[in-house]
Amino acid sequence: MIMSITERVHLARERIARAAERAGRSPQDVRILAATKGRSVAEILEALKAGIDLIGENTVQEALGKFEFLPQELEKHMIGTLQLNKVKAAVKLFHAIQSVDSWELARALDRELSRIEREEPYSIFLEVNPAGEETKRGLPPDQVEPLIEQIQDLQNVRVVGLMAMMPYQDPETLRPHFRAMRELFEHLHQQARQKGWARVEMRWLSMGMSHDFEVAVEEGANLVRLGTVLFGPREA
Ligand SMILES: *Cc1c(COP(=O)(O)O)cnc(C)c1O
Repeated sequence: MIMSITERVHLARERIARAAERAGRSPQDVRILAATKGRSVAEILEALKAGIDLIGENTVQEALGKFEFLPQELEKHMIGTLQLNKVKAAVKLFHAIQSVDSWELARALDRELSRIEREEPYSIFLEVNPAGEETKRGLPPDQVEPLIEQIQDLQNVRVVGLMAMMPYQDPETLRPHFRAMRELFEHLHQQARQKGWARVEMRWLSMGMSHDFEVAVEEGANLVRLGTVLFGPREA
């Protein structure tokens, strides 16, 4: 059956709502980020019409080609690996960077942001690799808290959440990793209060993609990053 993007967005919302209810959570607690890599401006605009209000791109290059044709006020996050030499362009294009996984990158962002007049600190997520895959980027879970401590020395960024990258495998086998992410998220939330961290405001737990978002929501995700399930299979 061929579905329109509008139908796909509605179906994804229904599936999220059911997963949230299974976990005794409110469906409204879960926000969708549309992962728009490889998608055209026309496809993205259709998703916005269907109610999507947050998108993520993987490269500065692709964002540069598309964002000028999208509403200025649309919230846009960087979800791909960010190279140090693209930091300057990235902070202009994106409202938040979800893929911060090193002190070097956090510091480079802070330095770039110090040149820009802003009312609020810039939002970053720390990217975590809970399954310990060697090929993937992301911090080992035990390095997240030390990096947050270091980030307290910076002036222009604030950690608003965690983003998890999981291996592509049977979602049920990922459940313990999703759960561990939730526990880390809550631990950091508590630590932020106890230690009075000024550069932390743990709000978002970004985990779950098209093949595993229902398990992620059952385990506590409040931001899911969906591509295929909203737009259909990516062309090879
Ligand atoms: C592409 C991508 C997604 C969405 O992937 P789908 O499997 O198509 O839902 C989510 N997060 C990141 C970082 C991505 O690169």
